[in-house]
Amino acid sequence: MRKKNNKTAVTVVLMLMVVFGMLGLGSVFNPPRSPAQEPATNQPAGFAERDATRKLALSCTLDSLTKFHIHPHLQIVVNGKNEIIPANVGITVDCMRPIHTHDTSGEIHVESPEEIDFTLGDFFAVWQEPFSSGQILDYRVNSGHEILMTVDGRPSGEFENLVLRDQQQIVIEYRIK
Ligand SMILES: [Zn+2]
Repeated sequence: MRKKNNKTAVTVVLMLMVVFGMLGLGSVFNPPRSPAQEPATNQPAGFAERDATRKLALSCTLDSLTKFHIHPHLQIVVNGKNEIIPANVGITVDCMRPIHTHDTSGEIHVESPEEIDFTLGDFFAVWQEPFSSGQILDYRVNSGHEILMTVDGRPSGEFENLVLRDQQQIVIEYRIK
């Protein structure tokens, strides 16, 4: 009797494992659709392209895969003081993003397996800090403060949409109006 009960229990456990296993397999074969896979309706022009560069920017890469290697330079000034752009943005023990930093000099390394128009927004996405015409890091534009951006000394209104180029000198300034 006791032996039979044990056998029944084992059978039930096995059946449960099979059912859950099938459910698990089902979700592998039918992964939930990510927003990127949705039909491109009502999306602004260029969205798909920007989405593709963002995906690549956030992927992992290896030195040996580098086909595209440029170095723009970024400086962030908040109320007259330089903000430190950290070393090793985009680098962890097991992953290197195609856009990263090695030191605190403001030099951005773009080392990508694909030559693609990465944007300044892609760098901030890797850094996981906000940047737009309305906000830089924790500093928001308001009635008393503004954000100005220059590229190679000339004013730019491109903000996060600026395409990164080799040796570009990008300055983002948050200041009192
Ligand atoms: Zn480099």
